[in-house]
Amino acid sequence: MRPARALIDLQALRHNYQLARELAGARALAVVKADAYGHGAVRCAQALQGDADGFAVACIEEALQLRAAGITAPILLLEGFFEASELALIDEHDLWCVVHAEWQLEAIEQTNLKRPLNVWLKLDSGMHRVGFHPADYQAAYRRLLASGKVVKIVLMSHFSRADELDCPRSNEQLAVFQQAREGLAAEVSLRNSPALLGWPSIPSDWSRPGIMLYGATPFEQAQEVAARLQPVMTLESRVISVRDLPAGEPVGYGARFVSERATRVGVVAMGYADGYPRHAPTGTPVLIDGQPSRIIGRVSMDMLTVDLSDLPGAGLGSRVEFWGRGVLASDVALAAGTIPYQLFCNVRRVPLIYSEA
Ligand SMILES: *Cc1c(COP(=O)(O)O)cnc(C)c1O
Repeated sequence: MRPARALIDLQALRHNYQLARELAGARALAVVKADAYGHGAVRCAQALQGDADGFAVACIEEALQLRAAGITAPILLLEGFFEASELALIDEHDLWCVVHAEWQLEAIEQTNLKRPLNVWLKLDSGMHRVGFHPADYQAAYRRLLASGKVVKIVLMSHFSRADELDCPRSNEQLAVFQQAREGLAAEVSLRNSPALLGWPSIPSDWSRPGIMLYGATPFEQAQEVAARLQPVMTLESRVISVRDLPAGEPVGYGARFVSERATRVGVVAMGYADGYPRHAPTGTPVLIDGQPSRIIGRVSMDMLTVDLSDLPGAGLGSRVEFWGRGVLASDVALAAGTIPYQLFCNVRRVPLIYSEA
């Protein structure tokens, strides 16, 4: 069997959720969209069921997958419905629903539901993707109330730069939110992972942690609270071939690496078809039998090459960790010009192997 695999530590997931909740000092919806950032939404939701106040996903397809697996906790659709016909399913499966646009308001006004909806009314406080303009927010709230179709409205918004700890933008967005919601007596949901970890003064009755549940920091620099997270995924494989090259020999496609000295090259069963980033340059960190080393040459579809020159004990069959507790996904992401979110979401083809302890 090909040795590439992703180990998923569900105990670490629960630890990170508890940390999120402790920081929130309030309820927290575990964000398990995009197949729990590549960690397997059903297994992750099952592991958190009982602890989590609820879950959040991007769309109804993801929510129905969780309901089909027996998840009965609240599930919020972060983008609401994409067409009005989804309202019947939202009703049937008792889902919570973001409303971010006028046409969604209209659809709710015109629908006939068995049960009144739990709606999260989204304000565009400055990210400028989705949400109501501040000037239209109160009117949207009143229309929802007047529709008679809702049982509860949570006021929500989303930060664009909470991962930049010295940036004033989050406080500006908070001020826009506070002004837009003036006088509305309702619960509030503002904090994603970077806001939970780095912005303790931002109020939120319902936080929405995503990346931190999976144990990766959303910040580029070291941050005290983020250091308490435990990585959930370990992406690993083994050395399947070894080459001893003299100086001056190229390795891999495009000869992107040329040995400067006699070099021992390990070929590892891991490639971009598994989700390892093709853009990871020579020097990107890996652990080989627990010892730090580096990628050399270009990452190909099914294989990549690592430097064994300074690891005399390493060879055929050596275990290579690409990210996990020994090599942080955030460091790999930085080297490869991306973010840990994308590294995790891209993981595919490798089996996900779950452990509780
Ligand atoms: C994805 C998402 C989150 C989670 O963000 P993280 O940075 O992963 O914590 C929270 N809120 C909304 C609206 C999202 O789309």
